[in-house]
Amino acid sequence: FLPRLVAALEEVDETYIMVKPDGVQRGLVGEVISRFEKKGFKLTGLKLFQCPRDLAEEHYKDLKAKPFFPKLIKYITSGPVVCMAWEGVGVVASARKLIGATDPLQAEPGTIRGDLAVQTGRNVVHGSDSPENGKREIGKAFDALLRYYHLLNLSDMITNLALWFKEGEICEWTPAVAQWLRE
Ligand code: GDP
Ligand code: MG
Repeated sequence: FLPRLVAALEEVDETYIMVKPDGVQRGLVGEVISRFEKKGFKLTGLKLFQCPRDLAEEHYKDLKAKPFFPKLIKYITSGPVVCMAWEGVGVVASARKLIGATDPLQAEPGTIRGDLAVQTGRNVVHGSDSPENGKREIGKAFDALLRYYHLLNLSDMITNLALWFKEGEICEWTPAVAQWLRE
């Protein structure tokens, strides 16, 4: 029910892209941002952030049973990450293509992981795997819901669904080049 509700609330696709600690340490932040910028998607949120353990565990909760989960949490919390929200029709699937396969050795040349990484455990970047997860990870669509649910005393139910951005951290704007990107 929730994914459908969220999709109904927000029509434009958005994806959560994150430069992981290895990407920040290696000075690849600009390179990663640049690829999404050049493609023509719209940046709506951007921050440098030290991810706390509970957020890392919530973000990767689907992988909790995997043997590499403890290493993954240690990796993601090992230094600052760069959190980004990108918007545009089809942005979720397109971003996954720009990022490339999870294992950088399998990722095609031309992709971020294919060009810039050698190992799954240090694969530089995260991208949401579905429009629903994009909404969940960014959290914008939940702002309105949160206010409403708060009145109903149900805020606890969905507070942890808006993961990486708080109210006021996402910017609504129209790029000057919009008319040159879409007919
Ligand atoms: P993604 O959506 O392409 O990022 O891949 P997954 O959702 O399957 O996994 C999330 C993240 O967990 C990956 O990007 C890796 O950082 C990490 N990961 C996945 N599989 C492995 C693995 O076998 N070993 C290690 N060390 N990390 C992994
Ligand atoms: Mg994933």
